[in-house]
Amino acid sequence: MKVLRAKSAGFCWGVERAIEITRDYAHQGRKPVYTDGPLIHNRQMMEKLSEEGIREVGDYQSRANIAVNPAAPGENPVMVVRAHGISPERRNYLKSLGMDFKDATCPDVGIIAGKIRLHAKKGYATIIFGDKNHPEAIGLLGYTEGRGYCITSKADIDALPALERVCMVSQSTMFMHEFAELSEYARQKFKEVLVFDTICQATKDRQTDVVALARQGAQAIVVIGGHHSANTVKLASLARLQNLPTYHIETAAELSPEEMKKFTVIGVTAGASTPEFLISEVCAKLEAL
Ligand code: SF4
Repeated sequence: MKVLRAKSAGFCWGVERAIEITRDYAHQGRKPVYTDGPLIHNRQMMEKLSEEGIREVGDYQSRANIAVNPAAPGENPVMVVRAHGISPERRNYLKSLGMDFKDATCPDVGIIAGKIRLHAKKGYATIIFGDKNHPEAIGLLGYTEGRGYCITSKADIDALPALERVCMVSQSTMFMHEFAELSEYARQKFKEVLVFDTICQATKDRQTDVVALARQGAQAIVVIGGHHSANTVKLASLARLQNLPTYHIETAAELSPEEMKKFTVIGVTAGASTPEFLISEVCAKLEAL
């Protein structure tokens, strides 16, 4: 079987950076190394990190209080902030836990937070094109000074109160074409709307590459990555929009050889939090068919 692998498949720079920061602590013998919720949205990678002494605490959305044992003699704990970022309130909470604190928020998310904070201070309301239950959007809402709204549709925009001055941004992993459409809609609806396209370049590259796989002749697309990973879920839905059979899997074990044998050319891509070992395994399994 011919396997077309997307150029951008796998870790983005923000995920690589967060892993490196966290691993550095573990490899220096620092312990315990905690992460506030999953550092990245990939279960297999989090399991690998846990074997290296990195311990996920808290909850998926980084909202719950954290119960950790007081440091034992010789321990020097550190709390690492996830790549998705957190709200200022959560930051204060983590700092109050009395252990070292290291921010591994992706700088691209930090830029979004900065834009929101700057405009919120000037009195702008914030519209975030994003999933209100996703940790990144939850964190970003914390910068809006209580005037932030998450939307994913025109109906959501219609349901907003009358807003005078609006700063509109996107969660980093959303669809480019949807953001363009919804920001245009918001512009028509409200008096002053400043639009910042904050979908990160890593997301844009991965979305562009899925469309390219279809053009290169892929008869089906395999998308590898966590079922909780927003950018992976988006890649799978973009692949379906190309009218191609699409298989969103986390590991090679989920691939059915019988199903795959229906095709002679398969496109493979992976979310920004999918480690290389999972991608290589899938490609090898497909190539062997
Ligand atoms: S997907 Fe984008 S925003 Fe998210 S960690 Fe990667 S580079 Fe950063």
